[in-house]
Amino acid sequence: KKTILSGSTVTGDLTLGNYIGAINNWKKMQSEYDCLYFLANLHALTVFQDPKILKERTYSFFAQYLALGLDPQKNIIFAQSHVPEHSELSWVLTCLTPMGNLNRMTQFKEKSEKHVKNINAGLFTYPVLMAADILLYQADIIPVGEDQKQHIELCRDLVGYFENRYGAGIFKMPEPHIPKSGARVMSLQDPTKKMSKSDENEKNFVSIIDDPKKIEKKIKSAATDSGSEIKFDVENKAGISNLLTIYSVLSDKSIEQLEKDYEGKMYGHLKVDLAELVVSTLKPVKDEYDRLMQDRTHLDKLMLDGAERARVRAKTTLARVYEAVGLLHR
Ligand code: ATP
Ligand code: MG
Repeated sequence: KKTILSGSTVTGDLTLGNYIGAINNWKKMQSEYDCLYFLANLHALTVFQDPKILKERTYSFFAQYLALGLDPQKNIIFAQSHVPEHSELSWVLTCLTPMGNLNRMTQFKEKSEKHVKNINAGLFTYPVLMAADILLYQADIIPVGEDQKQHIELCRDLVGYFENRYGAGIFKMPEPHIPKSGARVMSLQDPTKKMSKSDENEKNFVSIIDDPKKIEKKIKSAATDSGSEIKFDVENKAGISNLLTIYSVLSDKSIEQLEKDYEGKMYGHLKVDLAELVVSTLKPVKDEYDRLMQDRTHLDKLMLDGAERARVRAKTTLARVYEAVGLLHR
């Protein structure tokens, strides 16, 4: 069985983008592969976090994962901070990472423009922690959205640097897996930017636990271009193309089919139908989420169980790394 690893930063709430670009695909893989999914709460610290909210969100994300259909028995689902080996391996890798490689990361540029008041070193080195997340578990496949491709490349480079200096055979070379359709869901108000759960403008995303009224409103007020034809054309009709992408993934209909269905209809028709589809897709998710959030003891138990299973693997890799680089180990 191939090993798959992926995670989400614990910021905001999961969005339709996270669902379509990531979790929907994780769900399909859970019986076929050996899957690890983690709540990246260490990554969350790269941006200012209210401690209370961060803690609460870690539970909330765990519950959102389960509500979206990830099975904690079939998968290993855990919080990153429960497995200290992430930070430990990250340091070793940081000392192997040329500054120049990090300087090239486009996501740092985007994020540092957004968080001008807190451009901390963690924001800069976060791709290295991400490499540690991946390499600890000997993951074969990393299912990610398009936006993470560059970070996986860095991780692959780091495997090369490590092997050059310390010899081969410790890490597995990970491969990114980027889904073909719906790989990138765009912001509802500015469809040239990706939908992002940390966006400060709520109108730009649909959270998977938004209430139906809100979802409807957000979709109906999504930005569209001045034309009137419902056609997939990212260059000239970014807004409509984005709505078609979402529609296509959630309905399992092809874009071509949808274009046919909506021939001669207006943008408004598409939006009304899409809003309904999104609401009905997310309704059971929200219900299950509310149910899970009522029992913290149960969530704690499931989370710690996941961490324990993850740690067995992480420890093995870290011990080999410490041995290879000459660090005394406890
Ligand atoms: P943040 O703004 O905090 O970075 P995010 O929405 O980008 O939040 P991440 O935690 O960075 O979410 O990513 C979680 C997973 O969701 C990753 O696999 C990422 O590639 C995927 N993903 C994030 N945004 C989108 C999107 N708009 N479309 C498709 N996939 C996405
Ligand atoms: Mg992101």
